[in-house]
Amino acid sequence: MEKKVGIVGGGAAGMTAAITAARQGAKVTILEGNDRVGKKILATGNGKCNLGNLKLDAQDYYTGQPQFLKRCLERFGKEDTVSFFQGLGLMLKEKNGCLYPACEQASAVLDVLRYELASLGVEVVTDCKVNRIYAGPEESGITLKSGKRTFHFDSAVIACGGKAAPKTGSDGSGFELARQLGHTILPTVPALVQLTCSEPYLKAVSGVRADAEIHVWNQGKLLASERGELQLTDRGISGIPVFQFSRQVNYILRRQKEVEVTIDFLPDLGREEYDHLQNDRKLLLDGRTAEEFFTGILHKKLMLQFMKLAGLKPTEQAQLADVKKIAAVYGLCREWRLHVNGHYSYDNAQACAGGIPLDQVTRNLESKRAKGVFFAGEILDVDGRCGGYNLHWAWCSGHLAGKASSGEMCG
Ligand SMILES: Cc1cc2nc3c(=O)[nH]c(=O)nc-3n(C[C@H](O)[C@H](O)[C@H](O)COP(=O)(O)OP(=O)(O)OC[C@H]3O[C@@H](n4cnc5c(N)ncnc54)[C@H](O)[C@@H]3O)c2cc1C
Repeated sequence: MEKKVGIVGGGAAGMTAAITAARQGAKVTILEGNDRVGKKILATGNGKCNLGNLKLDAQDYYTGQPQFLKRCLERFGKEDTVSFFQGLGLMLKEKNGCLYPACEQASAVLDVLRYELASLGVEVVTDCKVNRIYAGPEESGITLKSGKRTFHFDSAVIACGGKAAPKTGSDGSGFELARQLGHTILPTVPALVQLTCSEPYLKAVSGVRADAEIHVWNQGKLLASERGELQLTDRGISGIPVFQFSRQVNYILRRQKEVEVTIDFLPDLGREEYDHLQNDRKLLLDGRTAEEFFTGILHKKLMLQFMKLAGLKPTEQAQLADVKKIAAVYGLCREWRLHVNGHYSYDNAQACAGGIPLDQVTRNLESKRAKGVFFAGEILDVDGRCGGYNLHWAWCSGHLAGKASSGEMCG
């Protein structure tokens, strides 16, 4: 008999689960809260969709169960992402390990997934927000409810995403469904998100983008270091290096007010080299104002702000200026300290950290609380770094859950 599989959520993970289950001969229905599937995919990778990474490694993910995650990635690795999409007819290209559709259009990724759903006869029910789930009515079935509509399936995959970018449909309602089945949810925080800082003068440097190395400190201990293009906003810090450590900072900010970061805008210069440079530049002091003297080291807005922080007037003669103040400006270029006191909301986050702990599911991502119910994607306690890792997890977990939910290897 054909197995009936219901997929809650037609995002990256849900569509992959649907394709995998349907390829195994199951009769698959996607119940999607939005008026169409895959809305978030269109926004990924700035519209280009970084759908995977050839340098995939379990270390690029955060989860409470790293060994479990590693085993999942061994069962669906980077080659599987490549062959999955090539099998759908999508040409891929690679930049520094990151995988994109060759046409650089996220819509192409969604299109090939939609075409495959259609050709496999997967039914897609849109505007169908599921708000209730329970076992039954038969011994082994699952019932899903969306308002007054009721659906019965032999098994179900919950792939509702987390809370990131709720406008795309992932508003956290999947966690409520998991709770109805008896699951606990690990506290969530926005991940891959901009951070806010308490320094009142950030408006003056807003808009500056610069290559930098950023170090994150918690109570004097180095927590993380990231290198890349830092973006300064009027409220704080942004850019990929900031996104990468944002989830760690956000968990700390749940229990304390502030986390410190120090920013090195000249990370390629060794300490000695920098000392020499300062020495050599002394020749330039003569006849120049402080502003003229510091021109061209970093973005003008930053240099003016650093002079202000050091107590140096841009108009004063550099040669007559207090040497300690000159040194302080040089010091700020290497170690500018900011106090992170918050983050932008889930609206701006690319991922959601936390979720259903992996020890509450089997190796096939089946619920240990409700037989026949599987989970896939960001709803689980897995979030990755920027670089295609989160979508890889969606394809990987969608594949594992879809395969098991349609019969093979249940349990
Ligand atoms: C702006 C942005 C850019 C990103 N760029 C990248 C990138 O380039 N590379 C990368 O790897 N990752 C990227 N990500 C992260 C990646 O998109 C997500 O990790 C991934 O899409 C998660 O897939 P998912 O299927 O688990 O959840 P989602 O994609 O969030 O899909 C969940 C689906 O479930 C539906 N749903 C929710 N609740 C219900 C319910 N109760 N009933 C019915 N349906 C429901 C939602 O409407 C949605 O369609 C980006 C994210 C954002 C927001």
